[in-house]
Amino acid sequence: MVVKVAINGYGTIGKRLAEAVTKQPDMEIVGVAKMTPNYDAIIASKNGFRIFTSPDRIQKFEETGIDIAGVIEDMIEQADIVIDATPGGQGAKYKELYMAKGKKAIFQGGEKANVAEVSFNALCNYDKAIGKSFVRVVSCNTTALCRIIYAFKQAFGVKKVRATIVRRGADPHEIKRGPIEALVPNPVKLPSHHGPDVKTVIPDVDITTSAVIAPTTRMHLHVVNLELEKSASREEIWDVLEKTPRILVFSEKYGFNSTASLIEWARDILRPRYDIYEVAVFGDSITCDGNEVWLMYCVHQEAIVVPDNIDAIRAMMEIETEAFKSIEKTDKHLGVFKRWPI
Ligand code: NAD
Repeated sequence: MVVKVAINGYGTIGKRLAEAVTKQPDMEIVGVAKMTPNYDAIIASKNGFRIFTSPDRIQKFEETGIDIAGVIEDMIEQADIVIDATPGGQGAKYKELYMAKGKKAIFQGGEKANVAEVSFNALCNYDKAIGKSFVRVVSCNTTALCRIIYAFKQAFGVKKVRATIVRRGADPHEIKRGPIEALVPNPVKLPSHHGPDVKTVIPDVDITTSAVIAPTTRMHLHVVNLELEKSASREEIWDVLEKTPRILVFSEKYGFNSTASLIEWARDILRPRYDIYEVAVFGDSITCDGNEVWLMYCVHQEAIVVPDNIDAIRAMMEIETEAFKSIEKTDKHLGVFKRWPI
């Protein structure tokens, strides 16, 4: 079966998802929804994606010479499943339309958890999404925390997690967000929303998070402290993280010591748009004291949720009922690395 996928909202996340879907042999794109006839729309069209828009925007597209295949409702009708990658809060408004058309939908982390039946991370709870109609792939920061907690939980058991999230102020293309010169506690009063969000995927975890927004655009950085059920050495932890899908461990001895070197690496290996789908752990930051562990890792906010969205399609459409088979398939076709290759 080849699943027909519609992408509603062709922005930072939507454009990456459209390309990721086309790389998978068991799914195809029926169209992407765009609201503005800008360079993104021209590239989408050149890449062979049929563009749909709202009725009041058709004329604008026609004036710019960009072909329109129809209105968003037409696109939804033609799809088996919709990935909603509209700005946070819009997805909940679209849900009625998806329901009216009898279509399944995947929402993103900007939506409230109650928009969907399941908040999803492929490593943690693939099974819960099997056959479901509405699934929410959690945000970039929550996805990274879930992958890391999953790895520690499987290997050593986790008593508690305390994490500080240094958030990027804006995505690279966003000119209206900040700060330009400030570090902003987000929020000042703890905890940040990330801990409760992780609990929507891993309900039994004891987690508290704080967050600070920093004037950078390329990646988030997490400083995490875990108390484990049993003690573990740095070598054991390094090994477990290396063996966990979608986590890569980078060594300082090769020059990996900042978000800048990680992005440069992704550019040098010609990852599309320098996308890093994997959680990028600074291996040398792993520090142990009995049952306690500290580590730091980076999160490419624009790319990390892409593989999980693909897995959510397979689970919801029941074309693959085994989590690790889907993860393997997604990662193979997307080019996700199993280990950091030297
Ligand atoms: P974006 O603003 O880059 O893209 C959203 C797209 O949707 C834009 O192309 C916009 O024109 C379009 N759009 C706006 N209103 C629409 C409507 N009514 N109908 C159809 N299309 C509409 O946003 P994004 O960063 O891609 O975020 C999308 C979702 O993904 C949000 O829930 C966000 O929280 C989540 N997310 C974002 C990131 C990130 O770092 N950018 C990471 C993970 C998850």
